[in-house]
Amino acid sequence: MVIEPLISSAGPSPSTRRVSIGDAIVGGDAVQVIAGPCAVESRYVDHAMATAHAGATALRGCVFKPRTSPDSFQGMGADGLPLLDAARSTTGLPVIAEPLEVDDIALLQGHVDALMIGARSMHNTPLLRAAGRSGLPVIVKRGMSATYDEWLQAARYVEQTGNTQVILCERGIRTFETATRNTLDVSAIAVLRGRTDLPIAVDPSHAAGNASWVPALSIAAVAAGADALLIECHPDPHHSVCDAAQAITPAVLSEIVRAVRTLTPVVRSVRAGSLAQCRDAAAGARGHDATRLPRDHARS
Ligand code: PEP
Ligand code: MN
Repeated sequence: MVIEPLISSAGPSPSTRRVSIGDAIVGGDAVQVIAGPCAVESRYVDHAMATAHAGATALRGCVFKPRTSPDSFQGMGADGLPLLDAARSTTGLPVIAEPLEVDDIALLQGHVDALMIGARSMHNTPLLRAAGRSGLPVIVKRGMSATYDEWLQAARYVEQTGNTQVILCERGIRTFETATRNTLDVSAIAVLRGRTDLPIAVDPSHAAGNASWVPALSIAAVAAGADALLIECHPDPHHSVCDAAQAITPAVLSEIVRAVRTLTPVVRSVRAGSLAQCRDAAAGARGHDATRLPRDHARS
């Protein structure tokens, strides 16, 4: 039995494409929560475990980092790949990572379940094509000043390789406002729903730039129909080597997961079995029950 949402215009349409990142289906009944530290650090496996226990359904595992300053930490590089393998096997969750250049893709193959094209790389057409040829699902983040059409065309570079496993990710755009790191364009979800069958993810962390605003932006994104959230989470945010100000704790992530599960049937149609799983997962997250295995959380 399919349970209809209260607001039928939000959420995916029957034609929305389903993209599988491991067991996490983006564009289906459930809203996937992809989370983890901004960058892979030496204690990444612990970070991944904490993120998984908070209810994430996929992990950020960025070993190559695009940094504005060349003097900032640039990521662990290939040294971080064994940590991705360990996190994957320990948590059972799929991992996503960002290639900065074409050669990074071969290094990441076999260690990750999806590639993420970062905002700074959205216009890098050789990278988009190489990501498509990898055969891995590709998350195309919106460039910080890209229009919807430019963003959709970037996604088409991936699709023209024959790879249809593409997800769009809104991460905030540059505006005159300086309080936030970027301005989250929630409209993008509503507008693009009518223009493409690609599932749509939202990264509230790089939009906000401040951990305290991430929960509200996450809820706004899901209420507008986002198919997935991409959130920076670190057990000790102040000591995060990268983007410390916007990293939320696993406890806050757990609250977001609970709210997302509660909100899901309001904005998207779900099958009865999925709804029960949403409720169970919400109940589990409410107690921050660290003994629950990640696979117990809604996986529909
Ligand atoms: C990231 O997600 O690690 C990142 C660098 O974000 P963006 O490309 O959106 O700035
Ligand atoms: Mn970051």
